[in-house]
Amino acid sequence: MRNIAVFGATGSIGASTLDVIARHPQHFRARVLAAHRSVEALAELCQRFQPELAIIADPALEADLRTRLLRAGLSTRAASGSDALNEAAAGSLCDTVVAAIVGAAGLESTLAAARAGKRLLLANKESIVMAGPLLLAALAEGGGELLPVDSEHNALFQALPGRAAVRQDSLAAAGVRKLILTASGGPFRGKTRAELGAITPAQAVAHPNWRMGRKISVDSASLMNKGLEVIEAHFLFAAAPDQIDVVVHPQSIVHSLVEYSDGSVLAQLGNPDMRTALCYGLAWPQRLDAGVKPLDLIALARLDFQPPDLDTFRCLGLAYAALRAGGTAPTVLNAANEIAVAAFLDGQLPFLAIAEVIESCLEKIPSEPVANLAQLIQTDLTARDTAQRMMRRLHC
Ligand code: NAD
Ligand code: MG
Repeated sequence: MRNIAVFGATGSIGASTLDVIARHPQHFRARVLAAHRSVEALAELCQRFQPELAIIADPALEADLRTRLLRAGLSTRAASGSDALNEAAAGSLCDTVVAAIVGAAGLESTLAAARAGKRLLLANKESIVMAGPLLLAALAEGGGELLPVDSEHNALFQALPGRAAVRQDSLAAAGVRKLILTASGGPFRGKTRAELGAITPAQAVAHPNWRMGRKISVDSASLMNKGLEVIEAHFLFAAAPDQIDVVVHPQSIVHSLVEYSDGSVLAQLGNPDMRTALCYGLAWPQRLDAGVKPLDLIALARLDFQPPDLDTFRCLGLAYAALRAGGTAPTVLNAANEIAVAAFLDGQLPFLAIAEVIESCLEKIPSEPVANLAQLIQTDLTARDTAQRMMRRLHC
């Protein structure tokens, strides 16, 4: 029996996780559920899953949550704020934490779970991009296990020799030549820069293959999602930037591939449904039914692969540049992207200017070696501030 804390329970990953949990009551129990502000949705999930603890990140909503829980006759305790999240991540209610908060807001609870030696299912890629070296140190300190549930990294984990993600084994020693991340190309695949000038938020979040939160949907449309995933792969699997390739694969059936020195290429395939990766992470090393439709190869008939268009989708190149610069550059990249994406979703920034804002922040803020959490939080704030000033200059 795994006792699970779902952080970001009301989001897209949260829903997929809870679907898998509900399918296997004899294996999984949701003991902590947490969300940002959607108190009504959180209270409904509590009725269904009856966790011991429900956390609403915004303290102004704690009283509302408590009232709803009492009114429903539940014994679920209510808590709020980031301290409550961090304590629950490390506390005795759970042995497994699903880190599915979006953005840098997920960093501290992710670190707390790692430090406490939990099984950490990492969906919150922003936290490893922002603080990769610190997350790896926290995992080593806590002795827990990280199971990647971003579908590409889950695929790589499955195609690599046993436990490579946890132990940071040398890829060369395992005979690995390359990690190949697949990208759907998002809703604007094949479009030119001229065609992307007047893109609206509604167009950007309409992903062809996946139903996801708004922020990651914009990242998929700009290819920054793949950029963040390149950095994520670097930290998870100790892969050099040159060992990580990106190939566009519009069908999203091959979730990623590992190329070995003998010419073998191992891939993981499946329908685009996050429940596969989440079920794998929850049940590992076993396999359980995730409720995912079997893959019908005959109906699919073909799988296509193309190179990414780095001139149109500049965010991917910026992510490689930040990874090569190292140190705090990925922290700057992530923070600037979060600010630019939020402004785009607010109708304040043109789609193509997302890359400009990020590039300018990377130029203005020199990279430093990663020292500690306080430094990274400061770097994150500086980058957010620089991005805001840059957008004001662009008259956004
Ligand atoms: P979403 O927007 O659907 O859900 C986000 C969740 O985080 C919500 O429950 C929200 O209440 C919570 N949250 C937001 N801000 C918070 C804060 N400040 N404090 C506490 N909780 C907060 O997003 P999503 O699509 O589920 O993505 C979640 C994470 O998983 C992201 O990092 C994303 O990149 C990653 N991811 C998502 C998918 C996917 O298919 N959706 C795939 C791979 C990785
Ligand atoms: Mg992914």
